[in-house]
Amino acid sequence: MSNTMITHLIDGKRVDGGERQQAVFNPATGETTKNVRLADLATLEAAVESAQKAFPAWRDTPPAKRAQVMQRFKVLLEQNAEKICELIADEHGKVIPDAMGELQRGMENVEYAGFATELLKGEHSKNVGPQIDSWSEFQPLGVVAGITPFNFPVMVPLWMWPMAVVCGNTFILKPSERDPSSTLFVAELALQAGLPAGVLNVVQGDKEAVDFLLTDKRIKAVSFVGSTPIAEYVYNTGCANGKRVQALGGAKNHAVVMPDADLDNAVSALMGAAYGSCGERCMAVPLAVCVGDDVADKLSSKLQVEIAKMKVGVGTDRTADMGPLITKAHFEKVKGYVEQGIKEGATLVVDGRDLVVEGHENGYFLGPCLFDNVKTGMVIYQEEIFGPVLGIVRVKSLQEAMDMIDAHEYGNGTCIFTRDGEAARYFTTHIQVGMVGVNVPLPVPVAYHSFGGWKRSLFGDLHAYGPDAVRFYTKRKTITQRWPSSGVREGTQFSFPSNG
Ligand code: NAD
Repeated sequence: MSNTMITHLIDGKRVDGGERQQAVFNPATGETTKNVRLADLATLEAAVESAQKAFPAWRDTPPAKRAQVMQRFKVLLEQNAEKICELIADEHGKVIPDAMGELQRGMENVEYAGFATELLKGEHSKNVGPQIDSWSEFQPLGVVAGITPFNFPVMVPLWMWPMAVVCGNTFILKPSERDPSSTLFVAELALQAGLPAGVLNVVQGDKEAVDFLLTDKRIKAVSFVGSTPIAEYVYNTGCANGKRVQALGGAKNHAVVMPDADLDNAVSALMGAAYGSCGERCMAVPLAVCVGDDVADKLSSKLQVEIAKMKVGVGTDRTADMGPLITKAHFEKVKGYVEQGIKEGATLVVDGRDLVVEGHENGYFLGPCLFDNVKTGMVIYQEEIFGPVLGIVRVKSLQEAMDMIDAHEYGNGTCIFTRDGEAARYFTTHIQVGMVGVNVPLPVPVAYHSFGGWKRSLFGDLHAYGPDAVRFYTKRKTITQRWPSSGVREGTQFSFPSNG
């Protein structure tokens, strides 16, 4: 057991609250490297009290000053990029260039939050009636919370709290208990950048902390990102307790490969999308839907050649393409899916199960796996595997591919590889999925758009970050004001006021 304890960050200080703790592993070695405190009631109370105390002054701080903190914070993120990515690699297992990509995307959200003055300008109409002006302004909600998954310990928290605090709220963040160090380190950088104590609090914890955040009446809104069963639970419980909730869930993203696609480019794109981050991305592509057997045969051969070139290794090995899975339990689960796929009759073309990374025999390494002849009735088609397993599904037409995608319970991301503009336009217009790519395998919206899936990939109305975040983290107030010219007198009107 390691002595290093990962603590909470409350009221600007590291706090060691709660008797319960959980081991944090290095997935490349299987060793416990740290332990994380799991917040108890007193710790959670302290976090809410701190956030509540900080709210009035922060709400009244001019947006330009709130934005300046974000601008300084972004510089600190850049200066500390190496350290942040090493922390991610040590606990999550992803390779450093992938961690850099995650951090870069997170920084783009911070940069967007730095435009708070522009985002919070409101709407104004003059002369909506005689001598009457009207405007809408966007006021903060108060104390809001965020609950985040293990797979993007830096980026996903940065989807949430920078926008929430720049809108004038104070925030309680509960990171994943599986890899909390990078999240905590980044939060401390925000304090260094000038975020006042209490504006951002971090509580480490598990279900007990989540349930507290979902039921405490002082918390006005909850943003959640994680698996679909928990997202649904968070949405239902939070709403039942009077909160505004956005809960982003799991995914099973399909890439359609058309007969006219540039296959070499499609293969390069699919390799990264299926095996990058060991498949532990909600925008990963675990299914390649090939239109026609000829496309499927060629795609399979080309993928096999590329898979043979891949290097699986420790996250901090700069020459590795893919690291280990997050935990032993998840490693066993993903291996179980591979066994299930074989039993169900899919053809395992590449088997990554006996991969060994020398010197890291106890790490949670699984090599890339490739299935062909995956059918919609199979568990490996229906469920989110969240591992390095790509399945080829064979269909006869684009319409058959689209009907299949639309029938799936998830609707996070999808893409089409084609040279046919008409097919691409038909696909983007009609497909029932929230984020769609054309020759772009991971169509993750940039920071000035918003991120969210459809169907059981998102519970709630507003998407994460970007313009939707301003709406999610504020409440609209509309003020109608009349300053009649002196001396003008009007009689009482009993009819409903209108311009008619
Ligand atoms: P998870 O649902 O297990 O955990 C997410 C958060 O919920 C964590 O903070 C965890 O502590 C908490 N939690 C876990 N079990 C809980 C319970 N029973 N009650 C209350 N809270 C609980 O997800 P994960 O394994 O950390 O992350 C992977 C999942 O997240 C995948 O399904 C992936 O698709 C999804 N994800 C979705 C998006 C998106 O934007 N849609 C982005 C990233 C990850």
